[in-house]
Amino acid sequence: MVLALELGRRSVGCVLLNDKPGIAEAPKANATSPRSMEHLRRLGIARRFRDLGLAPDYPTDVAYFTRLSGYELARLPMPGWGAAVAETARGEGPWPGPEPAHRGSQLFLEQVLYERLADFPAIERRFGWRFERASERGDAVDVETVEVATGRSKIITADYLVGCDGGGSRVRKGLGIELEGDAGVVRAFMGGSMVAAHIRLAPPAGARWPRPAWQYWAVNPEIRALIIAIDGKGRYVAHIQLPQRRPLDAGYVREIIERAAGVPALQEIISFVPWTAGYRLLAQHYGAGRVFLAGDSAHLFTPTGGMGMNTGIDDAVNLAWKLAAIAKGWGGPKLLASYETDRRPIGARNLAWSKRFADSVGTTPATPAIETDSDEGARERAAIGKRLAAHAAHEFLIPGIHLGFRYENSPLTGPDGTAAPPDAANEYTPTARPGHRAPHLWLASGVALYDRLGPEFTLLQLGGSGAGAAAIQQAFAARGVPLEVLRLERAAARALYQRDYALIGPDQMVYWRGDDAPADAAALADRVRGA
Ligand SMILES: Cc1cc2nc3c(=O)[nH]c(=O)nc-3n(C[C@H](O)[C@H](O)[C@H](O)COP(=O)(O)OP(=O)(O)OC[C@H]3O[C@@H](n4cnc5c(N)ncnc54)[C@H](O)[C@@H]3O)c2cc1C
Repeated sequence: MVLALELGRRSVGCVLLNDKPGIAEAPKANATSPRSMEHLRRLGIARRFRDLGLAPDYPTDVAYFTRLSGYELARLPMPGWGAAVAETARGEGPWPGPEPAHRGSQLFLEQVLYERLADFPAIERRFGWRFERASERGDAVDVETVEVATGRSKIITADYLVGCDGGGSRVRKGLGIELEGDAGVVRAFMGGSMVAAHIRLAPPAGARWPRPAWQYWAVNPEIRALIIAIDGKGRYVAHIQLPQRRPLDAGYVREIIERAAGVPALQEIISFVPWTAGYRLLAQHYGAGRVFLAGDSAHLFTPTGGMGMNTGIDDAVNLAWKLAAIAKGWGGPKLLASYETDRRPIGARNLAWSKRFADSVGTTPATPAIETDSDEGARERAAIGKRLAAHAAHEFLIPGIHLGFRYENSPLTGPDGTAAPPDAANEYTPTARPGHRAPHLWLASGVALYDRLGPEFTLLQLGGSGAGAAAIQQAFAARGVPLEVLRLERAAARALYQRDYALIGPDQMVYWRGDDAPADAAALADRVRGA
């Protein structure tokens, strides 16, 4: 849906196929990165998404317990989204961008994306249609589709096909592209057979029950669970590692939820689905010929760190502007190949982080003493609590992962001879070094630099006479590459970008910077358009 929206808002026609009649009904992702949120802001739906989930003042703490009704082991306090947005607007808090991370369910995100599709006539929604196979011929792809309800088949002839068809991707299999990496890693938690249950919980009268949090983790020798608040009004998703091999039915789901809660708190099982944790899988290639892969079809994560969907959204944004540039005629012959060069290393990087987080939390030991009212129990709770508190800050405050990624070998950006800041999970160093995400800046109350960027390339002029801008503008215009010039006379902006000019791409990445136009502005225009 993000790919379709990025094409649709540029009036590039596309058909969005989905074998289901509608959007997902089971909650999956819950952590939307600040990077994904800035994409949603550009699409005009960030606020709508926030409004659908937890109330703005509902705390988004991550807390660990023996069982929900048992001992609290550790808690990472985090504000509700109202305070997080206000803090970010003041230039404070852990997420230096226009939008803070959002702790909202994929259920709501899919709903707002789906609603937004209707605003772009270039997007044809064809839900209830299954992709069968594709065959490439010359300058087109024939895509065979089948209407699920009737079995009626239809061939769609397209310029390109993108398989955003999830972990079991038929598009990827059709290309003969394998997934590489780890599957079937076994851990006490986040490594093995899991259930995701969409449920309603309410503690029985008089039961000990935790104060509100976004995530509640149960850590004891019998069962490991992660229970996440969806609406703050009793609706949760529970991810529980199955303690025994037995058929997954509602009775089994009820039993393990009540064991994780510690008291009979389960009111309703809305739905449940099995899933497997312990993947770290990356496609050998992100496409072949006129067919591309994005999202889970290209990478499969264990959800620790909350990176699967976020990585997929950024794939879609990278690929969409390039497809649109080709459709509009200004993209060069090397443009589409840069999608894999840019994004596959990010897939590998993010997979490595999610594995580290899974190893850290998934192998936390717990002996029976942890639940006892004894000195030994208190000691064990303190020791495990200390470990979990450190883990929580490491896993949940990760601006470096979400904002500090870089396209180090992109053929579209040239090195400018400066050293890259460290690529660290918990620290983000804003830099306008080419290949990095353009550093954010507030320009006025509620107005971010990102809000003022043009629809495709933007040349930031932060100093100099303007003669350099004219040379670059001329070169871009001669090749039909859309470029807007944004002049900012601010010392803070100049200090952040460290040059008089910075060229920001359609994906808010920096493609070039300098104190004057490059000697060959035409070569710059050609490089960024993949010619
Ligand atoms: C328990 C859990 C928790 C998670 N938590 C997070 C998190 O906090 N943050 C995060 O970033 N990610 C998280 N993820 C991962 C996230 O849910 C996925 O990465 C994301 O859904 C992938 O999106 P996608 O569009 O690539 O694939 P999918 O969501 O799988 O969508 C693929 C779509 O393609 C359709 N389809 C498949 N085959 C065909 C076909 N042949 N024809 C037509 N349509 C087809 C499917 O019906 C589906 O609608 C979590 C995942 C799980 C399981």
